Amino acid sequence: MATVKLHVKKDDIVKIIAGKEKGKTGKVLRVFPAKGRVVVESLNIIKRHTRPTQLNPEGGIVEKEAPMSISNVMLVCGSCSEAVRTGVRVLEDGNKARYCKKCNEIVDK
Ligand SMILES: [Zn+2]
Repeated sequence: MATVKLHVKKDDIVKIIAGKEKGKTGKVLRVFPAKGRVVVESLNIIKRHTRPTQLNPEGGIVEKEAPMSISNVMLVCGSCSEAVRTGVRVLEDGNKARYCKKCNEIVDK
């Protein structure tokens, strides 16, 4: 089985390149590698109706970020501030780090 190659991870700033939130940017809150989906802060909001509970006796509508396909987001490079493709480079200490294919800067600090 092919492993999903993730180009983004938690706390990355990403740009949405497809779907209803296209063109917006936000911070990655969660990544679901197995599903190939990400949750981006304040984007792709769904409204969920909740039953009244002891904690929230009124019940009502809770707004919550829904996961979106990881292929719909691109990493925003911290150096050139653009949505870019990234590659992986092996550093001198043997660790791998993502780099920006546009400005060549290491993205992972
Ligand atoms: Zn860059």
